Amino acid sequence: MRADTAGAGTLILCAALAAAIAGCGREAQTVNRQHLAFGTLVELSIYTDDTDRAERAAERLRARLDDWHNRWHPWEGDGLAAVNRRLATGQPAAVEPELADMLRRAQALHAETDGHFDPALGGLVRLWGFHHDESPPSQPPAEPDIERWLAERPEMTDLHISEGRVTASGDRLQLDLGGFAKGYALDRAIAMLREDDIGNAIVNAGGDLRVIGRHGERAWRVGIRDPRGNGVFAAVEATDGDAVFTSGDYERFFHWQGRRYHHILDPRTGRPARGLRSVTVITDNAARADAAATALFVAGRQWPRLAREMDLTRVMAVTDDGDVELTGTMSERVQFIGEPPPRVETLTWQ
Ligand code: AMP
Ligand code: MG
Repeated sequence: MRADTAGAGTLILCAALAAAIAGCGREAQTVNRQHLAFGTLVELSIYTDDTDRAERAAERLRARLDDWHNRWHPWEGDGLAAVNRRLATGQPAAVEPELADMLRRAQALHAETDGHFDPALGGLVRLWGFHHDESPPSQPPAEPDIERWLAERPEMTDLHISEGRVTASGDRLQLDLGGFAKGYALDRAIAMLREDDIGNAIVNAGGDLRVIGRHGERAWRVGIRDPRGNGVFAAVEATDGDAVFTSGDYERFFHWQGRRYHHILDPRTGRPARGLRSVTVITDNAARADAAATALFVAGRQWPRLAREMDLTRVMAVTDDGDVELTGTMSERVQFIGEPPPRVETLTWQ
């Protein structure tokens, strides 16, 4: 009798254990999905024990990435590209609310970065030939053309956004949101994943990324590309909500007469910005991190001053000598990889 009871009890216990193992034992794993958008590979990693939920979230995000890419491309399609075509005729252009919001953000970031992030230089990007997603140009534009662009330089402050339409003074203003569209998209992507109850994820668009939560016991860790090699030269830790964005002279460039010409242009000179090979920014908003990385790159060796003005505490730059300069708060998050380690200067102003 006692033995029977014990036997039944053991069975029930076993059944309960089996149910528990089946329920919580869907062990956490990383679900990885990749998709081409914004001219780069967008990789979504979700750390979860509910793979169905992760699959659904990934699918929803994939459709939106395509949509954003089409709507925010400056030269193709009927979103921002249509606005640019219309502005080129000197006429007001209709804008949908989301694009109007982006343009307002772009204007605010232009002001906040003291003009170093300047989406009004679409015409200059075209002049240099960096507007093609695939092939870089082979030589710089003619000097007089650059001088003419500078003389008639369109300004972001010339853009007026109101009630579903934008106007610009004259017909010179062409908008290029390439310096922060990816960041804006990643903020939207993270918001969508949170809506879908995803608690641990990373969305990485060609090395620019934002994270939610952690990867199990540890924080997400991401590699920072060596601007003069194929690998990474540093790893940084990203905690919940962090955006990590890098701007560099290696992304789109050509060599001509022994010099490198790249796609991040200084609106003051009309030419590729000088002084740095890359800048990495960590902050809690991807649109701002993206614009800030572009702006600090344009600031060149003066980047610490602009970073301080913008209240950015986590910044790392690789100078054109190959040295690393970084803020004290950034140094707590960075580990250098490879031999020999770079020469590192930690700035003490924070
Ligand atoms: P990013 O990789 O975020 O630094 O963005 C570079 C892209 O932004 C370029 O390919 C251009 O389309 C655009 N761009 C270039 N120079 C600037 C600038 N000074 N301000 C804003 N956008 C820029
Ligand atoms: Mg940027």
